[in-house]
Amino acid sequence: MELLLYNTMSRRKEVFGPLYPPNVGLYTCGPTVYNYAHIGNLRTYVFTDILKRVLTYNGFEVKHVMNITDVGHLTGDRDMGEDKLEKGARKEGKSAWEIAELYTRAFKKNIERLNILEPTIWCKATDAIEDQIALIELLEEKGYTYPTSDGIYFNTAMFKDYTKLSHQDIEALQEGARVEKNPEKRNATDFALWKYSPRNVKRQMEWESPWGVGFPGWHIECSAMSMKFLRNMLDIHCGGTDHIDVHHTNEIAQSEAATGKKFFNFWMHGAFLIIAGGKKMAKSEGNFLTLDAVLAAHRIDPLAYRFATFQTHYRKPMEYSEEAITAAQNGLLHLRNQVRTLMDSAAPTQPDAAFQEKFLQAINNDLNMPQAMAVVQDLLKSDLAPEIKLAAVFDFDRVLGLNLEKAGAGQSLPEEIEALAAERRRARKKKQWALSDQLRDRIQALGYVVQDMPQGMKVFKP
Ligand code: AMP
Ligand code: ZN
Repeated sequence: MELLLYNTMSRRKEVFGPLYPPNVGLYTCGPTVYNYAHIGNLRTYVFTDILKRVLTYNGFEVKHVMNITDVGHLTGDRDMGEDKLEKGARKEGKSAWEIAELYTRAFKKNIERLNILEPTIWCKATDAIEDQIALIELLEEKGYTYPTSDGIYFNTAMFKDYTKLSHQDIEALQEGARVEKNPEKRNATDFALWKYSPRNVKRQMEWESPWGVGFPGWHIECSAMSMKFLRNMLDIHCGGTDHIDVHHTNEIAQSEAATGKKFFNFWMHGAFLIIAGGKKMAKSEGNFLTLDAVLAAHRIDPLAYRFATFQTHYRKPMEYSEEAITAAQNGLLHLRNQVRTLMDSAAPTQPDAAFQEKFLQAINNDLNMPQAMAVVQDLLKSDLAPEIKLAAVFDFDRVLGLNLEKAGAGQSLPEEIEALAAERRRARKKKQWALSDQLRDRIQALGYVVQDMPQGMKVFKP
């Protein structure tokens, strides 16, 4: 069956095919590690994880590269302001390197908790300075660059079709340039490839270069590292929709100017997680929630957040609310309970071909997860035999990533309930029946059902 993916470049769904089947090169713009990732950022990474799993489900072999932006991303748009890492370091009284390490570790923990598969290659911008310098040199040789007092800039007027991804009105952008604070830029859309360290200030992260001591601009890292690690397997490049106008537009301009060849074939963008009132959740706005904060506030399984993101198509804004997160937790527990009941009576055999077809139709239609979840529920409600349902649901979980095979182990219970259940198991082993009854009442008072089965105790959310 054809896999249809929406390509921001053409603004329509296209049949996906890689350059060198069955291999697919996938590049995901990674986090800027000056703060914790928020659940908006993580929505984007769940979307790219689903994309990767859908590609794999379709039989492709995915080589996935994700960068870590640990230098060069400035606080202001269009190369104004301070480096986010250096600013964050000052604020926290740590070095920029320590900040990067700390938040990279926290990010990796987040993605593990959300069952997001690790990329084939992680790469840090600071580990690829030479590659970035080489790319800038190539652009310089080809005449696309010019110097200003604060760095080396890319002349966007020289690149035909600069707005082919964003479809921005270039005239309006030039008009906006009049109020811009950098009069040395030739065009409003020009951007820094290399920035000099400020005079009289020693930056923590800086390198020698043919143009002077400084650091690379943010966009050049993704061009240099995607080409370095994927070489000519430039199939799909992803990020959030905020990357369309500037970051990805600039990546395309500098990469295609340097190589004279088309950069990636598919550009895919996840819509924002928004908060009530429609505002984007953003690190820079300070209106954000981390995964840990959400888990602590609602005592939910981390995968409930993954489940929550499936309720909205990735190209539509998703509004965060406490009700939505609670509903997702209940939905996940219900699903696990359904699977657990099946596991009590059967072992998986062969999935049902008709349901597999329906599921594939949903995911291959530009990753339609709300539809895919409806297929899962239809399957569970159907009158197919438990062993077939179970086989199908486990097969679909290769895409869902909800760890459904572990449902039988009661994995989804909150820690507090797990602890009470364990205590009750111990009490029953010691034949302390009064204590066992008390513990059952406590578990039930917290909204869970306790059932004593011949094979042991079952605790679940009704
Ligand atoms: P950053 O760490 O700011 O570089 O962003 C990491 C990723 O999260 C990028 O792909 C952004 O486009 C994406 N992103 C940022 N804010 C949101 C949001 N509110 N909802 C969804 N994705 C977002
Ligand atoms: Zn990027």
